[in-house]
Amino acid sequence: MKNSMEIKFKAIAENVSFARNVVAAFIMPLNPSLNEISDIKTAVSEAVTNVIVHAYPKEEKGLVTIKVNTKDNFVEISVIDNGVGIQDIERALTPFYTSKPDEERSGMGFTVMESFMDKLEVKNNKNDGLIVVMSKNLSEAVGM
Ligand code: ATP
Ligand code: MG
Repeated sequence: MKNSMEIKFKAIAENVSFARNVVAAFIMPLNPSLNEISDIKTAVSEAVTNVIVHAYPKEEKGLVTIKVNTKDNFVEISVIDNGVGIQDIERALTPFYTSKPDEERSGMGFTVMESFMDKLEVKNNKNDGLIVVMSKNLSEAVGM
């Protein structure tokens, strides 16, 4: 079965737990394991936090869009912003690289997303901002 959803919300720290919980609630019918739920929540938190911290450097914070598509036990999550984007994506994906070392960032966000999901794709939006697409195949072991 195929399913999909889309949400938009302001890029502020108060909305991180909203975002991770909405995505978790949406995939619940697929019977994810506790580990899978936890992995997906962590990956969503990292992607949304990146938008909050990096995408909109000016005072006025823009929006985060999250799209989730599922097909059978396959989950694809896109986290999209209309901010500054990334000039050197390869460097940004390098473990421990951060453009904000002074703010106690460890530069591990993308590395966490990569290791907790099966696949991670990062690309600049055509007009502005960043698109982070991550996907995972759920085990289907639960409930069988
Ligand atoms: P940590 O996630 O460990 O707190 P971090 O956010 O700096 O630190 P990553 O999440 O791996 O590390 O991101 C690496 C770099 O990519 C960031 O330092 C930032 O320069 C850039 N980046 C990530 N997401 C975005 C985004 N949505 N818009 C603009 N730049 C981004
Ligand atoms: Mg980060």
